Amino acid sequence: MSAKQLEGKPLADARRDDLAGRASALAARTGTPPCLAVVIGTSDGAALAYFRAKQRLGGKLGVRVLDARVAEATTKSLVDAVRALSADPSVDAIMVETPVAAGVDLRAVQDAIPAEKDVDGASTLSLGRLFSGQPGFVPATAAAVMALLDGHGIELRGAHAVVVGRSLVVGRPLGQLLLARGATVTACHSKTRELEEHVRFADVVCVAVGKPRFLKADWVRPGAVVVDVGTNVVGDALVGDVDFAAVSDVAGWISPVPGGVGPLTTVLLLENVVRAAETSRP
Ligand code: NAP
Repeated sequence: MSAKQLEGKPLADARRDDLAGRASALAARTGTPPCLAVVIGTSDGAALAYFRAKQRLGGKLGVRVLDARVAEATTKSLVDAVRALSADPSVDAIMVETPVAAGVDLRAVQDAIPAEKDVDGASTLSLGRLFSGQPGFVPATAAAVMALLDGHGIELRGAHAVVVGRSLVVGRPLGQLLLARGATVTACHSKTRELEEHVRFADVVCVAVGKPRFLKADWVRPGAVVVDVGTNVVGDALVGDVDFAAVSDVAGWISPVPGGVGPLTTVLLLENVVRAAETSRP
């Protein structure tokens, strides 16, 4: 069998026109474009690359992505930066780029973001809203996986979904979103015994582990849907958490890396920025 691909790029492209239109209408109505401030408390190359990707796309779509860099990053200096941005009416949305510098209490920094500006759904309040089924912003990567599945008509109600990875950024919020849609969800992680056996039961398996080509073909039930959230740099290449070539022979659907979850993540984040601005500006 050769799996069909869960392509994220066409879905992301299809959302861009609408997003650009909303951003430009908002700028025309209020005098300034929607604005996301990204708090950067690190010199980590990956974090800076993620920031630049958002800034590039924001530039194309009419969303201002502000570099809110903090030179001496400590928990206090980052919390102070978030508080100042929270009080600034020209800033519609705030997120903290990760990873942050060693020793910083990321939870304290993210919890300083008010819910109405927390477009990446990172604070304890936003996560609590998600987990209790209340409206609010949802972490963009988890939302991107759902958009990828929905965009290809994958049935989730009654499906057995296995999520490998339990981070608060991806695995846990994704598990909640799948549960809310009527899937039966198994959450796996580094302490899971016989991981392969869990994966073999899955109609839908989502992998967010951070290890190149981690998920093997003989773990996958023939015809299953495989979503690869992983982004690992190996040499000059970007490689997912799934052994793509081998798993493609077994799965019914598989998301490529790059080109699957990634392109949707940034667009959905910027959609949240526009939504925050539309809501907060009279
Ligand atoms: P993370 O915080 O490091 O979490 C990794 C998770 O994988 C943890 O829950 C860990 O379990 C689990 N894990 C590690 N080794 C395992 C093993 N041998 N068996 C089973 N589970 C194992 O990473 P993350 O932030 O969730 O990111 C995961 C991946 O997604 C990374 O490659 C990241 O670059 C990528 N990512 C992509 C996007 C995108 O837009 N495409 C966005 C964000 C992240 P424990 O909890 O037990 O340690």
